[in-house]
Amino acid sequence: MGSVRIVMRIRLLEIIYVVSKLFLSPILRKYGKRTAVQKFMVINEIALKKPLFGCQMCGQCALHSGGMICPMGCPKNLRNGPCGGVRQDETCEIKPGMKCVWVRAWDNSQKMRRFSGDIFQVQPALDRSLKGTSAWINEIGN
Ligand code: SF4
Repeated sequence: MGSVRIVMRIRLLEIIYVVSKLFLSPILRKYGKRTAVQKFMVINEIALKKPLFGCQMCGQCALHSGGMICPMGCPKNLRNGPCGGVRQDETCEIKPGMKCVWVRAWDNSQKMRRFSGDIFQVQPALDRSLKGTSAWINEIGN
């Protein structure tokens, strides 16, 4: 029963992502450079993505590429994981009590309908200058 709920949650997040992107794309392409819009988006992303995903406002969101698991939760901030330090019980070598973020990302991504293959895409190196900016605007508004 628990795994059915997890699959439904992941699929729902997938749908929310797709619908949000469809809805936001034309608006952000047109108005994304405006300071007020940028501030509005940052406030919304903090309010929504922080409690839902532990978002750290990296500005380069990779949630849908990793099973809706934020890669910044990895103690090494790895954008392409896992590293070679995953323990046999799937926990992190730095935080022994924590299940590896990338093991969770793999598990979840395989439950996704639309984005399950995106975990194989190599993510670019993190641009730290984007920290605190809107990932939505960075992705589609520029
Ligand atoms: S990948 Fe970046 S923008 Fe996306 S949830 Fe994680 S910290 Fe936030």
